[in-house]
Amino acid sequence: MKKPRIIWLNVSVFVLTFLVAAIGVPYWAITHGFSNTLIAAAIISFIYCGMSITTGYHRLWSHKTFQAHWSLRFLCALGGAFALQNSILHWSSDHRIHHKHVDNNDKDPYSAKMGFWYSHIGWMCREYQASRYTDYSNARDLQKDPIVMWQHKHYLLLTILMNFGVPITIGFISGDMIGSLLMVGFLRLVLSHHTTFFINSLAHVWGKQTYTDKNTARDNGILAFFTFGEGYHNFHHIFENDYRNGILWWQFDPTKWLIKSCEFIGVTKKLRVSPEDKIEKAKLAMTLKLSQQKLKLHPQAEQMLVNLQHEYDELIAKMNDYYSTKKKLIMAKREQLRADVENSDLVKQYQELKQKFIEQKRSWQLLTAQLA
Ligand SMILES: [Zn+2]
Ligand SMILES: [Zn+2]
Repeated sequence: MKKPRIIWLNVSVFVLTFLVAAIGVPYWAITHGFSNTLIAAAIISFIYCGMSITTGYHRLWSHKTFQAHWSLRFLCALGGAFALQNSILHWSSDHRIHHKHVDNNDKDPYSAKMGFWYSHIGWMCREYQASRYTDYSNARDLQKDPIVMWQHKHYLLLTILMNFGVPITIGFISGDMIGSLLMVGFLRLVLSHHTTFFINSLAHVWGKQTYTDKNTARDNGILAFFTFGEGYHNFHHIFENDYRNGILWWQFDPTKWLIKSCEFIGVTKKLRVSPEDKIEKAKLAMTLKLSQQKLKLHPQAEQMLVNLQHEYDELIAKMNDYYSTKKKLIMAKREQLRADVENSDLVKQYQELKQKFIEQKRSWQLLTAQLA
């Protein structure tokens, strides 16, 4: 089959920026050196670009996991143009298709099953998506956001303003124009591009399938570090409406921390989280599946499989009891019966069931850990 036409503009941008960053930056570092001001400006610009994509393009506009004040939306729209990753409307439309048809080579714009290179950058180098370049029917909601439409309309101008304007301004301030263009212009852009692209490539091949094996997405703490928290991609593909990607407090997810911090000052609101029991159930089902696979090779597989299933069923039953009582308790509290409830049977029942659930979980973890 004949390959689609090469998009020379994209290819030139990727190749030229990469070459200048890979050759020009080390050359300038050796011959002139970079001041601390320039290094700091490049790091801040890199974080600004990356977080505009993860906070704005991804978790706000593509998935609507929270609502944001116009000031944050405006900043993310500028940062997205600075990151040179197409308009919000285009990016989000592509991304929604990626989630809906993940790993489907005919529909997923950056299907991981097409190979590492394709999902990383190849999909943008040829006119693979030509048939739906201007079809934004899956993003009608975004077309109601004036900031989205303003950025889409003036995208080219904004990218030029940000990608030349910011490095030139910093060049004037630092007194090293070429150094600034190299660091804040080229190197920042190349690093920002490839760390984001890793989410489509590496995050679909490297890491754990903690919550589901129905798609190629993986959870990877190392990748999360370089992608502002987006490395917990297995969780994200199953719970895409959750504003968090790393759900545990210690998991590195600065995008989550930013969205949550903004809530305190009223810049973000209506942060969506997935029900705790659903998350826990998905994880347990995956542990069960992996344990069953490991046990198949064991000499006493039959008996052990029965035992494992029994423990799993017990755990799920106790979990259901615990969470349904927890829900009842929350409702009771909400109805402002708190004072009456404090000493009621419901609280006692809740505490007992919580204890039973924790004990059962401990025995499950011991059992599955032995199999690891
Ligand atoms: Zn997503
Ligand atoms: Zn993905």
